[in-house]
Amino acid sequence: MATVERTLVLLKPDAVARGLIGRVVQRFEDAGLKVVGTKMVQMDAELAKKHYFDLEERFGKEVFDLTANFMQMGPVIALVLEGVDAVANVRRLVGATFPNESAPGTIRGDFAHVSKAYSQSNKIVAANLVHASGKPDEAKYEIDLWFDSAELFDYQTVAEKYTF
Ligand code: ADP
Repeated sequence: MATVERTLVLLKPDAVARGLIGRVVQRFEDAGLKVVGTKMVQMDAELAKKHYFDLEERFGKEVFDLTANFMQMGPVIALVLEGVDAVANVRRLVGATFPNESAPGTIRGDFAHVSKAYSQSNKIVAANLVHASGKPDEAKYEIDLWFDSAELFDYQTVAEKYTF
């Protein structure tokens, strides 16, 4: 059933350091998604472990360590976005994990290009600018991890009559 839902987005340290905060957030706002929470956070090892709790199990210790270290290289912008089927729609705008496989028009496809093979052979993380929750139950876990309820807002946008 199509429904209005919330999802967690992180603008990763590469997006922040490259000065892409405004352009990336614009993509979501242009699609009619509503920002209902936002803040800048310096991740620590504990938050990285909680956020990527299954990454080691899925891809091994090396990928987890690379990713956890990368996420602590500088501050991230955390966002909660609201919209119709927001979890799937945000993933669609973000694109595939590896930027070279991500279609033009997606955030990862337009602002990055590196491949899985390049990341693996150079033992570097796939710097892909954005994290977005993968499934509604992950979104709930991640929003609770990153935001207190007092940091999330209910309000109406002027565009809502046409966008939701
Ligand atoms: P997504 O972010 O697209 O949901 P995953 O949850 O599968 O992707 O992986 C989390 C993050 O870990 C990716 O965004 C990427 O930064 C990093 N990553 C995953 N697999 C690799 C890999 N093989 N090599 C380098 N980095 C990886």
